[in-house]
Amino acid sequence: MTVLPNTLELIGNTPLVRLRGPSEEAGCDVFGKCEFANPGASVKDRAALFIVRDAERQGLLRPGGTIVEGTAGNTGIGLALVANALGYKTIIVMPETQSQEKKDTLRALGAQLVLVPAAPYSNPGHFVHTSRRLAEETENAVWANQFDNIANRKAHIETTAEEIWSQMDGRIDGFTCAAGTGGTIAGVGMGLKAKDERVTIALTDPHGAALFSYYACGELRAEGSSVAEGIGQGRVTANLDGAPIDTQFRISDEEGLLWVRRLLAEEGLCLGLSSGINVAGAIALGRQLGAGTRVATILCDTGFRYLSTIYNPEWMQAKNLPPMPWQLEN
Ligand code: PMP
Repeated sequence: MTVLPNTLELIGNTPLVRLRGPSEEAGCDVFGKCEFANPGASVKDRAALFIVRDAERQGLLRPGGTIVEGTAGNTGIGLALVANALGYKTIIVMPETQSQEKKDTLRALGAQLVLVPAAPYSNPGHFVHTSRRLAEETENAVWANQFDNIANRKAHIETTAEEIWSQMDGRIDGFTCAAGTGGTIAGVGMGLKAKDERVTIALTDPHGAALFSYYACGELRAEGSSVAEGIGQGRVTANLDGAPIDTQFRISDEEGLLWVRRLLAEEGLCLGLSSGINVAGAIALGRQLGAGTRVATILCDTGFRYLSTIYNPEWMQAKNLPPMPWQLEN
């Protein structure tokens, strides 16, 4: 057992776990990277730490400064924790449609929360543009810019990919996950390809996102919609630029929710919907690669962040989605 010298060292080095049900379903070994085990309970702690360290190195962030960011929530939580540990303040801009838990959590951590109406990226009121303006208007502030700041994917090249490679003893045939900023898929993809270019990298896209059609036929075209938070991208961000995507899958909320339910009921893992969508994508990839192969994906965040949404039967019914069956019996 080792002792870590400070709390920032708690970020990363997450466990990798073999998922029994998905492995049986795929006919191969499916592994999940437990990113909910980070201090902020999501994969975004890694990007938050790398973005802050990069801004410090460039001299953009000075003592007592403020970090401003637009986020679906998890990056804000990661940034708030990292900022507290290093003596910075945070201003977080979030669409008001995100879960109540994320809003409560951000306020509890000490971030200044700015809620804006959900709007298309082309609208100047979109949370990303609002956060950029706020950063410009605030003294001694830096804009984290997670979508187009490649310190984000660097976190995954240098940490997530390295960890997966060593945890799997270099025996990995495929990796897949969904994209929000694209930092995870691009960074892990680049990192694994640098180790062994035969590793298949697959994008798993939710409905309502435009990347599936982009990688399938070069055209950004969105179809349908998804209630998954944190994923579903409509453009090629700087983080996605040059991502080594070999193949792509489109996964419905129903299929993702099926795996959220099964992983909780059968394996005792309480996850968010993006993790369920990733697992469904990993099963599709494993089936394509064949029996005896080994594929990995990301378990992005904890389900405790969604008690008011996907784990709330009334909310699910209002969205025309099936609630967790055991909740109907209680
Ligand atoms: N799942 C959740 C719950 C997230 O918050 C995010 C981050 N937006 C992702 C997946 C996607 O990660 P990335 O931004 O690295 O593409």
